[in-house]
Amino acid sequence: MEAYQSWGRYTRASHEVVRPFWRPRSLDLSGLPATALPYGAGRSYGDVCLNHGGGLIDCRGLDRFLGFDRHQGVLACEAGATLAEILGLAVPGGWFLPVTPGTSLITLGGAIANDVHGKNHHRAGAFGRHVRRLELLRSDGARLICSPSRNPELFAATVGGMGLTGLITWAEIQLKPLSSPELTVETIKFHGLEEFEELSRQSDQHWEYTVAWLDALSRQNPRRGLFMRAKHMPGPSERPQADARPRALLSAPFDWPGWALNAWTLRAFNLLYYHRQRPRLKKTVQPFAGFLYPLDAIDQWSRIYGRKGMMQFQCVVPFGQSEALRAMLDLIARSGTGSFLAVIKAFGDTPSPGLISFPRPGITFALDFAFKGPKTLALFKELIAVTRAAEGALYPAKDACMGADDFQAFYPNWPELAKHVDPRFSSSFWRRVTQGQREFLP
Ligand SMILES: Cc1cc2nc3c(=O)[nH]c(=O)nc-3n(C[C@H](O)[C@H](O)[C@H](O)COP(=O)(O)OP(=O)(O)OC[C@H]3O[C@@H](n4cnc5c(N)ncnc54)[C@H](O)[C@@H]3O)c2cc1C
Repeated sequence: MEAYQSWGRYTRASHEVVRPFWRPRSLDLSGLPATALPYGAGRSYGDVCLNHGGGLIDCRGLDRFLGFDRHQGVLACEAGATLAEILGLAVPGGWFLPVTPGTSLITLGGAIANDVHGKNHHRAGAFGRHVRRLELLRSDGARLICSPSRNPELFAATVGGMGLTGLITWAEIQLKPLSSPELTVETIKFHGLEEFEELSRQSDQHWEYTVAWLDALSRQNPRRGLFMRAKHMPGPSERPQADARPRALLSAPFDWPGWALNAWTLRAFNLLYYHRQRPRLKKTVQPFAGFLYPLDAIDQWSRIYGRKGMMQFQCVVPFGQSEALRAMLDLIARSGTGSFLAVIKAFGDTPSPGLISFPRPGITFALDFAFKGPKTLALFKELIAVTRAAEGALYPAKDACMGADDFQAFYPNWPELAKHVDPRFSSSFWRRVTQGQREFLP
């Protein structure tokens, strides 16, 4: 049994088989146990990358670049390569990831399987839109090339298919041209969701990246926040360029004691964070890693939540449902259990090719919570109920507790995905949201 866990470390699982190193041509899935699941970098928060009691296929050994057309920005590489490794190759050649989540430490396979989104969703949509084709290895040994035009149904099921349709061995993605690795950034203080929505509307056309932080712990209404918008500098920078690969500068090498993060310290942190700039508008120039991946600078940062781990709540609610977000913020402020920065962002309406992708037009809201047993689970239950009443959805990559009826309401296409699930593949998440099976004790 190997200790392969997810980022939140609340859902602990044990797995029978892990294949630490192989090349795709020699991979034979027939020797796997009854069920198996690909595992990337384990940066999903809940159990979407876990298969309690079954097998995991460790994909990190699949990390070779297969081809890079430097004129067209088309990159083919194995699915275990991380986004940081891809950036290390692409940035010096004047190319950039078309979509990137808030960490560069995930694999290409994980980015496709959760159809991840980034701060430019309003312009670029989700990751799957930029996948030209991929190879899927099924447990019967079949190797299928899938793209929007070849095996299109299997392609749609695999993008956002949470590793259930087979193993992505490699993929070809379209990168975007990069004018400069530095970003011009504006940070604007705001109060309340209306002002946030107005800033999003004003910025979406001219700013490549937008995201905001909201103080979910403050009882002040309207709640304060910082809206950030950024775009790549127009030309090459005159400043000397650092290595393009984002790197950790600090580390949290051990679990912090449970008392270290409490309502008082968290409120104080949020207050200081808000007041880190005096004027309403601040303009800066930042390297892309500092803006896009602020948390990658602290290795293993989830350990600050202590031994019991943490959970993240991330939902999206349609535009016009700010009342639902307000209700969630009130629930969180009353519980006093939320932590640091609540992240909010307006998604655009660019559809994803994925059958059950999470991003959809509306406002997404994400917040971390130290896991405190039944108290945390009770709060999540309330937050999920508000999301459901507002006809929103929860993000599987972050989830560890929604029920089967919630998932099936959020993702009515799930029976279509079920038709494409490889008969030998399964996950703790999938069993929970399709059969109501809960495999982890709080
Ligand atoms: C600090 C932080 C910030 C984040 N910010 C964002 C964000 O802004 N936007 C966002 O969308 N997500 C975000 N995430 C979540 C993260 O991007 C996703 O969970 C991502 O899928 C993790 O990829 P991974 O390589 O770690 O894969 P894992 O977590 O190991 O696996 C994720 C899924 O991919 C499947 N999978 C992995 N490899 C393969 C393969 N080769 N073939 C088939 N299936 C495979 C697994 O079975 C699993 O279902 C963030 C996570 C962290 C820790």
